Amino acid sequence: MTIFKSIAIASALVAGTAATAQEKFITIGTGGQTGVYFVVGQSICRLVNRDSAKTGLKCTAPSTGGSIANINAIKAGDMDMGVAQSDWQFHAYNGSSKFEGEKFDKERAVFSVHSEPFTVIARADAGIDSFDDLKGKRVNVGNPGSGQLATMEVVLDAKGWSMDDFSLASELKPAEQAAALGDNKVDAIIYTVGHPNGSIQEAVSTVDAKLVPVEGEAIDKLVADNPFYAYATIPGGMYKGTDSDVKTFGVKATFVTSSDVDDAVVYEVVRAVFDNFDRFKKLHPAFANLKEEEMISGGLSAPLHDGAAKYYKERGWIE
Ligand code: GLU
Repeated sequence: MTIFKSIAIASALVAGTAATAQEKFITIGTGGQTGVYFVVGQSICRLVNRDSAKTGLKCTAPSTGGSIANINAIKAGDMDMGVAQSDWQFHAYNGSSKFEGEKFDKERAVFSVHSEPFTVIARADAGIDSFDDLKGKRVNVGNPGSGQLATMEVVLDAKGWSMDDFSLASELKPAEQAAALGDNKVDAIIYTVGHPNGSIQEAVSTVDAKLVPVEGEAIDKLVADNPFYAYATIPGGMYKGTDSDVKTFGVKATFVTSSDVDDAVVYEVVRAVFDNFDRFKKLHPAFANLKEEEMISGGLSAPLHDGAAKYYKERGWIE
């Protein structure tokens, strides 16, 4: 056999091996780089990609506009999975609220992650001690496509307010909002997010600022009327300038997909997270207290994806 022939045979073998570990690229929608969704997506991909040689799956988790953008991208088939607030998972599946007339029947739940309190942070010099003090102020209400903007609209509606009640309602992204607060371009920012997070840490390190409670009748009614809202407390001492606990309400961050995504793919992603759960929990302080049984039940309103359910059954977590 000539040397050329043996090279040809060797490369055919290599090509054959590559063809059996079928490569498949999956994309996970996250949020702004200074939020927690970005870490959720990056962490999941890191675990999935450790097994790429075996599974063929290559996972990427780019920064996006947040919950609403992720749900819409999954619905359109532009992304495979994504992180979304439990309120918007619910509304997308049920075709309610912002998703009225745009029901996403194929939406599927995978698991829930950390809690996300609806968080108001104000400059210390702005004279804002409660949500009601935001009236007439310059407020960053969240970027289009984000969960915080959508949930802020729900809160304003519940209070009988509108964006016109603010002297400015800016729609800066999380990565820009801390600088805007520091530069005195806004008096307060609204962010529905896990704690601690980079954006708020950045804000309180550049300017004297504090977390503001979100309470009252309108909030009580939102919590009483909707299964996806719950009271929440942001522990005192977590951020410079806020020493006592701050009461608000909140949602859960959840991981969602579509029934169009293969069972085998969702199974592998779920397996990567739960087979390496201790490692996953160490990837962000907001994940430290996660419990498997809560993650597969709390905050989920769309049906479980079959690929996820298969893994949970194997573990004996569901029937
Ligand atoms: N809850 C926010 C949203 O739905 C994102 C928070 C984060 O990026 O951690 O857009």
